[in-house]
Amino acid sequence: MAIEQTFSIIKPDAVERNLIGDILKMISDSGLKVKALKMIQMDRAKAEGFYAVHKERPFFGELVDYMLSGPVVVSCLEGENAIEHYRKLMGATNPADAEAGTIRAAFGVNIQNNSCHGSDGPETAKNEVAYFFNDNELVG
Ligand code: UDP
Ligand code: MG
Repeated sequence: MAIEQTFSIIKPDAVERNLIGDILKMISDSGLKVKALKMIQMDRAKAEGFYAVHKERPFFGELVDYMLSGPVVVSCLEGENAIEHYRKLMGATNPADAEAGTIRAAFGVNIQNNSCHGSDGPETAKNEVAYFFNDNELVG
């Protein structure tokens, strides 16, 4: 299996509830390596650009407001099959449907406030990492 990179966000609901450490521990325990990491406050343009693929969806406005509601922790994670690996570790988009042992089952509040983001494919992973990190920040 190939070594891949993926992009992760610990979303505002989780940062606000002091879950940064718990979620990073689940990430590390699962075997993924942190390649880059920082806490940021997104502005509207940044959040709208990040979720541009969803801009026609009915939840877009609320989703952007939510992502602006507080700081987030963005990271680049690396490992074998990292993209699918991290999607599995996060669990289903709706925490109510997420398997036990996943981040969203453990910490997600509802389908919007679901504690984490992970890239859904190689192309998005590459674009999302580059949207938040310069090459010289990928130091891990
Ligand atoms: N979302 C929402 N309502 C929905 C579906 C999604 O608020 O009905 C939010 C949720 O925070 C989700 C994000 O929009 O994580 C992106 O949706 P996507 O379908 O890409 O889910 P993901 O890839 O995050 O599992
Ligand atoms: Mg998605």
